[in-house]
Amino acid sequence: MNIFIVYAHAEPKSFNGALLQAAQDTLLTAGHAVVVSDLYAMPFDPVSDRRNFTAVKNAAYFKQQIEELNATEVGGFAPDVEAELRKMEACDLMIWQFPLWWFGLPGILKGWADRVFVMGRTYGGECFYENGVFKGKRALLSLTTGGPESAYRKGAWNGDIDAILRPVQRGILRFTGWGVLAPHIVYAPVRITPEERSAALAAWADRLRAISSEKPIDVGEY
Ligand SMILES: Cc1cc2nc3c(=O)[nH]c(=O)nc-3n(C[C@H](O)[C@H](O)[C@H](O)COP(=O)(O)OP(=O)(O)OC[C@H]3O[C@@H](n4cnc5c(N)ncnc54)[C@H](O)[C@@H]3O)c2cc1C
Repeated sequence: MNIFIVYAHAEPKSFNGALLQAAQDTLLTAGHAVVVSDLYAMPFDPVSDRRNFTAVKNAAYFKQQIEELNATEVGGFAPDVEAELRKMEACDLMIWQFPLWWFGLPGILKGWADRVFVMGRTYGGECFYENGVFKGKRALLSLTTGGPESAYRKGAWNGDIDAILRPVQRGILRFTGWGVLAPHIVYAPVRITPEERSAALAAWADRLRAISSEKPIDVGEY
């Protein structure tokens, strides 16, 4: 498979960095091709505005989705957006590796999605959800939290982790047609023992060795 990993952590020695390394090592050993966008290292500009485009449809009033439709038609995306679009279009499986921030994506990854999931090329017309542009491809969120697993159940301190991830799993990935695999969550890597962290890295590698045969989950509705 062609596997595209979007990685959002500023510290290479972080646990997210270790999860990225484990994924790269495991997937390459298994014979997959792996492309990584290390957003902080690039550095990827997460601000979405006219910088997304080389073409201009309406110079008098900036409406992002109108410019996206136009850029789709004329090939008018800025090189950084175009490069990420091509990586997404070329992959069979996309993995996002990130720490949970404020019940959501770190800004750099949210900004990546804001700029790269463009109207026209990645959704629109009749192409949404099960008929989405990325139908047949799979995506997986791999994340860490600060809080323990017991805090992320329905009715618990922070609440249902599936509901917390739904805006991303449904609102971005499923909306554009991806088959969403079960999220891979390492809860509170800061609070667990070094042995438990090693076991978590091994469990991630084990899962990835069998990833070719995994089936998408139901991401739920509102
Ligand atoms: C702005 C912001 C918002 C946040 N919002 C939330 C929130 O909404 N909900 C929530 O739960 N949390 C939240 N957090 C906490 C955040 O999710 C966690 O701090 C983060 O997920 C921990 O992952 P990390 O990679 O940064 O861990 P790190 O702190 O980098 O790593 C944890 C430990 O793993 C060790 N380690 C690194 N590599 C290895 C290795 N190879 N083998 C073994 N051990 C290793 C490190 O040395 C360290 O001791 C927030 C944090 C910030 C900054």
